[in-house]
Amino acid sequence: MARKRMDYLLINHRKFTWEERVAAFWDKVNIGNPDECWQWKMEIGGKGYPCFWNGEYTEHAHRFSLRLKLGRKLKKGEHALHTCDNPGCMNPSHLFPGTNLDNIADKMAKGRHRTPGPKTPVMGELHHKAKLNDIRVRRIRKKLEMGFTVSELAAYYNVTYQLIWMVRKGKIWKHLL
Ligand SMILES: [Zn+2]
Repeated sequence: MARKRMDYLLINHRKFTWEERVAAFWDKVNIGNPDECWQWKMEIGGKGYPCFWNGEYTEHAHRFSLRLKLGRKLKKGEHALHTCDNPGCMNPSHLFPGTNLDNIADKMAKGRHRTPGPKTPVMGELHHKAKLNDIRVRRIRKKLEMGFTVSELAAYYNVTYQLIWMVRKGKIWKHLL
C-alpha cells in the first residue's frame, strides 16, 4: 500500500515538460477569434489574476501567455499588461510587456486606480460598497449596449472587472437576460 502510494507520488509529482506546461495552460483557456478576449476557464484568485499549476509552482497565467507570445521569460519588474483591460483574458494579442510605471499609468488611465483623479469616474448615487442588484445589472447591460466599456462600468459601479465581464458574458444574472 505504502509502496503504491510512493510510486504514485513519484510518477505524478514531477516537473512538467515544456509541452505539458503549455498544455496545462491552454487547457484552461476559452480560445476564441483572434480579436476576442480569450477568457480563463478556471476560478480566479483573490488578486484578480488567474494562476495555474505548472508542475512546479503556481504560475500567473497571463504572464505565461505573454511569455509564449514573446518567446522569452518576462524579466524581473516586467508586467504583462492587457490592452483589453480584462484580467481574465489570455489572448496573446491583447497582452504586452510593460514596467510597473506603465502598469500604474495604465490603471490610472483606465480609472482603476483608487486615488481620485480627473479620470476617475464620479460614483453618482452609488454607495462604494453597494453590490450589484437586478436593477443595476439591467442598467449595466443597457450601458454595455450603448457602448460603455467594461472598465468604465467597473469603475463606475466600483466592482471588479471580472464581475462586469461576467454580466456581459451572461455568466451571472442569467435570469435577467
Ligand atoms: Zn482581451
